[in-house]
Amino acid sequence: MDLIQETKFIMNKYNITASKSLGQNFLIDSEVVSGIVDNAEVSKEDLIIEIGPGLGTLTSLLLERAGKVICIELDKRMVNIITDRFSLYENFEVINEDVLKVPLKSIIEDNLKMHNLKNAKVVANLPYYITTPIIMKLLEDRLNLQSITVMVQKEVAERLTETPGGKETGAITYSINYFADSEIVIQVPNTSFIPAPEVNSAVMKLTLLDKPRVRVKDEKNLFNIIKIAFMQKRKTLVNSLKNGNILDGKESIEKMLTELNIDLKARAENLTLEQFAQIADYVENT
Ligand code: SAM
Repeated sequence: MDLIQETKFIMNKYNITASKSLGQNFLIDSEVVSGIVDNAEVSKEDLIIEIGPGLGTLTSLLLERAGKVICIELDKRMVNIITDRFSLYENFEVINEDVLKVPLKSIIEDNLKMHNLKNAKVVANLPYYITTPIIMKLLEDRLNLQSITVMVQKEVAERLTETPGGKETGAITYSINYFADSEIVIQVPNTSFIPAPEVNSAVMKLTLLDKPRVRVKDEKNLFNIIKIAFMQKRKTLVNSLKNGNILDGKESIEKMLTELNIDLKARAENLTLEQFAQIADYVENT
């Protein structure tokens, strides 16, 4: 049975219609499934966190290759299906919960220790309606993760893997760049899913850095300044920072930028991560 037939068979057997609000688009392309697992370099020394396993298409290959797979799935119907399919595997576990509410830090640390595994990795075909909150949680919670290999909407992958200064640069580009190296590893057409989403997709891989790319006194302050700078992307940085009430008016902002050798006409996307870190430290000291 190929993957399309198998997916239809499981959906019929359990009388499943895909939930649009839960972002359910099931993978039916076996090359993409193996491409994801190959790019994540999954081995028996790995603990894999799979977010949104759905009917278990990716899970099946992960269970063969990984030391342990912990699936986190919100939809009880999916939890029942993958429990039926995989409960005989010793390295399978499923948590029926919203991934944004799961204490991932302790789960990862406990399982690495308990099963004597070397690395923790996230591998997933993510629900697109909460891609950004999931990725930011994975990064900001400082989890002991080696990499994150996930399918997301193509435009989102382009924005998240952009280098600062590029065409697609946004505030989130800097956050990703602070924590990780990033790349798009597979382009995926919408025909690789049932039901086919309206958009095309891409698999991106984030490889976590041992320590953040730049040193800054207060990380929250850095992200806040980047957010304010990008709120009015078309304005100059001077005006965005002034409207965001950073420092005491336009003159102080211009003085700071001059001292930091930053062009007064620069816009947010022209700055490097290092320059934002310098601004954050300057503001912190003022
Ligand atoms: N992994 C499957 C595949 O590739 O065929 C399904 C991927 S589908 C794009 C996304 C999955 O995420 C669905 O199974 C959906 O129920 C699940 N999901 C949606 N919101 C979630 C949340 N907040 N926490 C955990 N899982 C969620």
